[in-house]
Amino acid sequence: MSSVSHESAKAALEAAEARFIANNPLSKKQHELAIGALPGGNTRTLLHTSPFPLTMKQGKGAHVWDEDGHKYLDLVGELTAGLYGHTNPIIRETMLSTFDNVGLSLGSTTVQEHKHASLLCSRFKLKRVRMANTGTEANMHALAGARHYTSRRKVIVFSGGYHGAVFSFPNGKAAPNTVDKDDFVVVARYNDIGLAVDTIRSTPDLAAVLVEPMQGAGGCIPGSKEFLHAIQDAAHEVGALFILDEVMTSRLAPHGLGFELGLKPDLVTMGKYLGGGLAFGAFGGREEVMAVYDPRVEGSLAHSGTFNNNTLVTSVGYEALKRVFTEEACVELNERGDGLRERLKQVTKGTKIMFSGRGSLIGVHFVDEAVEVFTCGEDIQGKERRDLRDLFWFEMLEAGYWTTRRGFVALILETEEKELEGFVEAVGKFAERHRDIMAL
Ligand code: PMP
Repeated sequence: MSSVSHESAKAALEAAEARFIANNPLSKKQHELAIGALPGGNTRTLLHTSPFPLTMKQGKGAHVWDEDGHKYLDLVGELTAGLYGHTNPIIRETMLSTFDNVGLSLGSTTVQEHKHASLLCSRFKLKRVRMANTGTEANMHALAGARHYTSRRKVIVFSGGYHGAVFSFPNGKAAPNTVDKDDFVVVARYNDIGLAVDTIRSTPDLAAVLVEPMQGAGGCIPGSKEFLHAIQDAAHEVGALFILDEVMTSRLAPHGLGFELGLKPDLVTMGKYLGGGLAFGAFGGREEVMAVYDPRVEGSLAHSGTFNNNTLVTSVGYEALKRVFTEEACVELNERGDGLRERLKQVTKGTKIMFSGRGSLIGVHFVDEAVEVFTCGEDIQGKERRDLRDLFWFEMLEAGYWTTRRGFVALILETEEKELEGFVEAVGKFAERHRDIMAL
């Protein structure tokens, strides 16, 4: 990479940022106000973007509008939770009718929670399930359950793994805010069978292996079938539980990605879109393991949570999964995602832009040199170009596409094919416009 093209990248990025500031005065003003009540004007770290985040005013179907009135095709898809778009009529009708006919905060067991649980069990092939409010909580309770069931403490996770706000393992280490930090053993490379199996076999007191079948926050890197089966088998060999984090990936196949790959996890954790747009988490799996939460049994674990069975989420999550994200809709959306990824690859051939992922989830990466093998974050370490990634983000906004700054696209059901074509075209034009800095 010549210093000349680094210089042109710097100039292009500075110009794009200056246009961003000029085009978004109301978002800028809102950020300055928000700083007065929220540290850094932010209550969800991922959404902080320099020099300030865009403040969205409204979402409708598959589009969002910012405070300054720009319209975008929503490719953020609320980091996979926004699958149903912003204004799905079935979700609206269910919210209103639940409010009118059932009401909020009953402080009791309801028939609806059983209906929702039964649907989750049949769809995702679980014997028993429990509900929570977030994916983070689902993982927390699954881990507590695994520890109780095995009477062991340690948990193996993978570099780049993300299992929630307090369970994150970037660059081979537990993030500083990780709960029970010392109980985690982080395998330095995802998808490395030998390393993973050795670590599983040599870790004493191992309660569970916790893994995403495709790393989401870690860059949309699919786990190979061989890798996932090998760690499942190794976990079982040493008497540990195999926990599959499907918080992001359950939408990638009709019964979840694990089922698609022939895995038989002891526990599965889920969340995101399964609340139909509301806060949700769930964990479930084998009957004997989930029995640690059976309150009829002396010495069982408590699983509390005021909103675990709230009437809105159990109704909306149920109707949305049953009537909107049917098995057929799931297959179709993911086929569209595969097609989109292929077209994006074609229009960026020979450039520093690289796409990863599976089905309707796409990772966008910018690398200085061609990457032949991309099986874990470490494969591109030191080769990543944040400046180009930021340039892409600014210029996609200008073209009317709302993407995640770190390079992540999650499709929404309502997105029309011609709009995705428009995105492919915009990406192709971006690569062309910056040929001097984007060519490999
Ligand atoms: N696990 C995975 C794989 C996730 O992607 C996420 C959220 N991005 C979580 C857990 C945590 O879910 P939540 O944000 O609902 O706590």
